[in-house]
Amino acid sequence: MIVGILAEYRWNSLERRIALIPESVRRLREHGFDVVIEQGAGSLASLADELYQQAGARIAPDAETVIAQADILCTLTLPVRHAERLRSGHVLITIVQQWKQGSIVEQLLERGVRILALERVPRTSRAQAMDVLSSMATVAGYRAVIVAAERLPRFFPMLVSAAGTIPPAECLVIGAGVAGLQAIATARRLGAQVSAYDVRPAAQEQIASLGARPITIDIGTDATETASGYARQLADDQLQRQREGLAPYVSRADVIITTAAVPGTRAPLLITDAMLATMKAGAVVVDLAAESGGNTERTQPGEDVVLPHGVTIVAPLLLPAQLPHHASLMFSRNLTNLLLLFASKDGVRFHLDDEILQAMAL
Ligand code: NAD
Repeated sequence: MIVGILAEYRWNSLERRIALIPESVRRLREHGFDVVIEQGAGSLASLADELYQQAGARIAPDAETVIAQADILCTLTLPVRHAERLRSGHVLITIVQQWKQGSIVEQLLERGVRILALERVPRTSRAQAMDVLSSMATVAGYRAVIVAAERLPRFFPMLVSAAGTIPPAECLVIGAGVAGLQAIATARRLGAQVSAYDVRPAAQEQIASLGARPITIDIGTDATETASGYARQLADDQLQRQREGLAPYVSRADVIITTAAVPGTRAPLLITDAMLATMKAGAVVVDLAAESGGNTERTQPGEDVVLPHGVTIVAPLLLPAQLPHHASLMFSRNLTNLLLLFASKDGVRFHLDDEILQAMAL
């Protein structure tokens, strides 16, 4: 069975990652797969063609050749530009974002392309090693703090210097899921004082274990988590109580990282214009919920918004692509663990005889 890998940056100007790294090519070949890679596909992730060749992959001159030869095409995002070339019998494994790309997905399915959506990997302990969403959220959480540090006109850590003592930056993290917890850990490593809030009570302990101060807000109920561990959508009055509880922390913060999301719905609006108006000049908000509507009233996906009193709201798109080497490595290891579900001692065979694959199939 041939796995095909494309140079995604050639159709998406924000992309720099590649879906498979040489280490994974080696592992897949040991289990009976062949791998074909578009020439130059790893170049923006510091992975040259020679490394792939040494690992046993074939280099194809263009995407058309890769698609023509591959049985399974693996991509980080839906290969919109090449959708027309996919034919019946092809298997496509990718992050689909069906809410955004519904009509292309329909067309592919109608043509007989089998699609496995990586965002549907169940969040069970067995599937953890295949969970690309958690891996990419980890990268995004780390990178969000670096983006904030680049824009902040002050230090993160406390400095004791010949010019006197400088206090540490105050950082507020809203939403302590995978990305938020990584943001807390990164901001702490840079020396900031960190407070964090999540609507799920279980997050309090995780926040404290990373050395941040958990914020408690009484919204009238503790039943804020679904059976699968995600947050529930809140009623308007509960959101209002959250905003009131967060307001004093927002006005004190030098940096805010927001990650609050409820799958399948608009992200909760947690920082209003009135709250932004109380923030200090120079403060930076990085909103990771931008693509699902944003956690602030001023978020513009993909843009920096600078308010007249000097507060910046940054809403980067495809943040994991800004750390292409390690984002590719994490994605590739997760993907490889998933592909190995097709391998057995009798060889490699496409099937859906596994609960993880069944959950992913569109
Ligand atoms: P997510 O991206 O869906 O949301 C980010 C965070 O926003 C979540 O922690 C959520 O509780 C929070 N949030 C939502 N509405 C909010 C509001 N109004 N105010 C404040 N915070 C709000 O979440 P995620 O990072 O994908 O993780 C969701 C859960 O799944 C977590 O409990 C995580 O530990 C768990 N998880 C489990 C596995 C596994 O078992 N394999 C893997 C990954 C994540």
